[in-house]
Amino acid sequence: MPVIKPTCVRDLKLRVNLADVVSRVVTLRKAGGTRLKGLCPFHNEKTPSFHVDPDKGFFKCFGCGKAGDVISFVRETEQLGFTEAVEAIGKRFGVVIEYEEGSGGPSREERSLRQEIFDLHEVAADHLHQAFLAADDTGTYFRSYWTDRRRFPLEIASEFKIGATDAAGSGLGAVLLRRKFSEEALRKCGLFFIYDDATLTLGALRPRFRGRLMIPIRDHQGRVVAFTARQTDRTPEDDPAREAKYVNSPETPVFTKGNLLFNLDRARTVVGDGRPFVLVEGQLDALRCWSVGLKTAIAPQGTSITESQLVLLRRYHPQVECFFDSDAAGQKAALRFLPMALKAGLEVRFFTLAGAAKLDPDLLFLERGLAAYEEVRRAALSAMEFACRAAVPDPAQASSELRTRAAQSVYEVIAAAESEVARAAFVAEVAGHLRLSAPAAERDFRSYLLRLQRSGPRVPTGSEAQAPAATGGPGTPRLPPPTPEHHLLLLCLHYESLGKPLSHAIQHDWVDTSPAHTAGRLLNRFLGEFEHDTWPGRDHLDSLLETPDERALVASLLFEAPSIDDPVKVAQEGLRQLRARALEPRLRQIELALANPHADSDSDPISLLKERSELQRQLRVPVVLTTTA
Ligand code: ZN
Repeated sequence: MPVIKPTCVRDLKLRVNLADVVSRVVTLRKAGGTRLKGLCPFHNEKTPSFHVDPDKGFFKCFGCGKAGDVISFVRETEQLGFTEAVEAIGKRFGVVIEYEEGSGGPSREERSLRQEIFDLHEVAADHLHQAFLAADDTGTYFRSYWTDRRRFPLEIASEFKIGATDAAGSGLGAVLLRRKFSEEALRKCGLFFIYDDATLTLGALRPRFRGRLMIPIRDHQGRVVAFTARQTDRTPEDDPAREAKYVNSPETPVFTKGNLLFNLDRARTVVGDGRPFVLVEGQLDALRCWSVGLKTAIAPQGTSITESQLVLLRRYHPQVECFFDSDAAGQKAALRFLPMALKAGLEVRFFTLAGAAKLDPDLLFLERGLAAYEEVRRAALSAMEFACRAAVPDPAQASSELRTRAAQSVYEVIAAAESEVARAAFVAEVAGHLRLSAPAAERDFRSYLLRLQRSGPRVPTGSEAQAPAATGGPGTPRLPPPTPEHHLLLLCLHYESLGKPLSHAIQHDWVDTSPAHTAGRLLNRFLGEFEHDTWPGRDHLDSLLETPDERALVASLLFEAPSIDDPVKVAQEGLRQLRARALEPRLRQIELALANPHADSDSDPISLLKERSELQRQLRVPVVLTTTA
């Protein structure tokens, strides 16, 4: 099945006017500004409530709530899959569709452009490595940065062709022009910001990476396809990304960051029985592992890990051991990762360090070498152990009610696994960890699956979309009520500067991320991006949206700019609601147990009193969002 490039999808959406596509199906009239409206094709109505904003590229029906972009419009009205819809639009509007290599039919011109960009990166990596080795001021600075600040041996720099750029870009543009790379390759390689000149001269090539340590990124075949650039003292003030510690190449015809894992080209040749992949957070962590002899370490490209990366991994070896920070953010990332890993069929183990707030593989291996690996391995947790602990840290002390609820949250993870056999084994393991009876756990899991099937995302049929709903006017299907997650998601999209402070203020277990709650899942994911400074900006969310439901919700939220006087206040109210929803039910439960001391044999009054005062304390703390702006 051919896979269309994300860059091509983005391009298509920019070039095709949504109004031209919709007007083949719906008669559109002016609706103020550049907006248009007409009768909704998705539900039955007599007065038009279907709005199209061609500037933003979104449609939204204020009657039934259906919203989306040009691709979802064609999918839904013509009953096509994603790829077919993109191809149909491309054909209609004369846009050439580009496919990922090895997945379909890229044209010969395209293949040669890709080859040229591979060659260009090889030349660039060599040139920048020579700059790193040079006897001049730049070389001297970067070598000492490497050996003294990062504490890596020089041999590792040579092995991985670590490079350097001075504040002017180390003359890379001139080198590449001399090597006669085509204008198109120079424009598309991602190493330069280019003025849209008619002729490409040296002056038009502004280097993207200046004053940074350059780490070449190779695809799984070992070809350099991009760079990650580490900020240093030499990074100049006028670098547009001055504050970013790491800057990656943008996506190019040869680089899709969600499809690539750093060091996979080498690690895949070393993995085997007893030598699983080791997943670390960043490229330098992976290099640290390599330098102490742990050669199976891999890292995502500065973003959270994606499903396609895990599928790629599974191709080579089914076992992966993971370093995630043991703080709340790390747990959040781990719990997002786990269902994807199970779905890909990977066997996962988690490294944790008792008592350590942060399990930093860089520091750990730097100080203690390979011996530390054997040690963390002995204390590693299985996937289910990890998920159970995240839900209830100390099952021996928890009430049966709490343990049953914890199991429910782990069932969500288990449901992602495709294999029935694996699921059954996981449920049995969870019952053991949470001290529940195994047959009861099996029954609970089966009924969880049934509920999931009933409430899970489904494709509405024509008759369903037109059926009158239980409430609301005739022909107006009911919309789910907005939740605090919904409001916070809206804020993140329209007041992006609130994203980072929110990511610090919200604890991951406050957010409802159940499969039916699209807003919660998205909020959780977006906060992760804000937290790690990888938020791509609200106009570039395609790579973060995984399902049609998610796309529709974001389209709907982006469609209308909310009129909010004080967004910080609204954010704080949302936070307060999340916190109350997370903590108050437990508080009520405790009060009940304290009022009926003999009803629940599980509970010891002293620990209940302690828990109550802790919950009361947490609920009393005023919600204050610290914004820098
Ligand atoms: Zn409608």
